Amino acid sequence: MRIDLHAHSNASDGTDSPAELVAAAVAADLDVVALTDHDTVSGHAAAAEAVAALPAGSRLTVVPGAELSCAVDGISMHLLAYLFDPQEPEFARERDLVRTDRFRRGRAIVERCRELGADISWEQVQRIAGAGSVGRPHIASALVEAGVVATVSDAFTADWLANGGRADVRKHETDPVVAVRLVRAAGGVPVFAHPGAVKRGRTVSDQVIAELAAAGLAGLEVDHTDHDEETRVRLRGLAGELGLLVTGSSDYHGTRKTVRLGEHTTDPEVYEALLAQATGAKPIGR
Ligand code: AMP
Ligand code: FE
Ligand code: FE
Ligand code: ZN
Repeated sequence: MRIDLHAHSNASDGTDSPAELVAAAVAADLDVVALTDHDTVSGHAAAAEAVAALPAGSRLTVVPGAELSCAVDGISMHLLAYLFDPQEPEFARERDLVRTDRFRRGRAIVERCRELGADISWEQVQRIAGAGSVGRPHIASALVEAGVVATVSDAFTADWLANGGRADVRKHETDPVVAVRLVRAAGGVPVFAHPGAVKRGRTVSDQVIAELAAAGLAGLEVDHTDHDEETRVRLRGLAGELGLLVTGSSDYHGTRKTVRLGEHTTDPEVYEALLAQATGAKPIGR
């Protein structure tokens, strides 16, 4: 079984449509892929249609999910949520709040970039983002188009879009304890995404992770491209101490990042344990 529990489509900052992501997952020989766009479930329906249209004998299952933008003590962090009821009103309202604020913040970042001499526009960013939940990677693509930086990842420096960078503007982010409770109340299963991704900025303390565990966190995403070996060993130990599951996932973003779909995977027993905790939605199989 090959199980990748973290992938983005163009419903947020990935470059594949949900249907293209489904095709890419089949091509990558995956059995399970989770669709976890930032603060939105808008790709789920198209992914489900694409799964239904797969040829008989296909074994791909799509786990509907999302990746929630959170912050604690001013430190941004991401919470993966799987198999929640997308209609549950309180959680849906919170996702709405974050998505809406992404527009205000996106415009403000574009304004900052222009002040700093980058010839980009909000119209251009909107064209790049399309219907997707708009974020810094779309603005990074605009900076690449304008010749300001060579790659998307080169835009995530202190000069431009990195956390605390010259053109960074914060968006509304949910307190992670609140987010964990919202996900659970909607029947979903919360997993802390890339908890040790230091190259993105400050990361939260073990104390905070312990508080999240007490609030209902199910697991830590340990095998992730942004974690070195030492970080993985440390996080695995912490997960053991706190009774948390350990997942591995690619965090695929299509051509906006270099990581390949299925580059990191989750053990089947862990996947089963996550499924056993979910009551809000069912995995989408053919
Ligand atoms: P936003 O959700 O708009 O705050 O943007 C965060 C997104 O930017 C993350 O989900 C990643 O896709 C991307 N990102 C953050 N840090 C980096 C980095 N250092 N290099 C490349 N992409 C990054
Ligand atoms: Fe992203
Ligand atoms: Fe993330
Ligand atoms: Zn992600």
